Amino acid sequence: MHDHEGVPQVHHYLCTRCGYCVLLCPQHVLEMTSRGPIVVHPERCGGCALCEDLCPEGAIDCEFEIVWDGDPGAHASGRRAS
Ligand code: SF4
Ligand code: SF4
Repeated sequence: MHDHEGVPQVHHYLCTRCGYCVLLCPQHVLEMTSRGPIVVHPERCGGCALCEDLCPEGAIDCEFEIVWDGDPGAHASGRRAS
């Protein structure tokens, strides 16, 4: 079972439906609906936060990014996206 902690939250009350996030997500996670984008493929999301960075309205929050510290014995950890 995957943990989808890094999947973005879209605040539809802020969204103007410009479509940038849907077009620019490298993993095609999002799909546009009449009320704004929704996450249709959470399993594909790498938590890159590109959608959050590109949204001109600040309507997307990626609460966590996956950080891999390179230590083969370590577990992946979450850190708050800035
Ligand atoms: S965090 Fe990255 S992979 Fe996930 S939906 Fe946003 S742009 Fe796509
Ligand atoms: S980039 Fe932001 S404003 Fe544009 S569709 Fe996505 S969430 Fe809405």
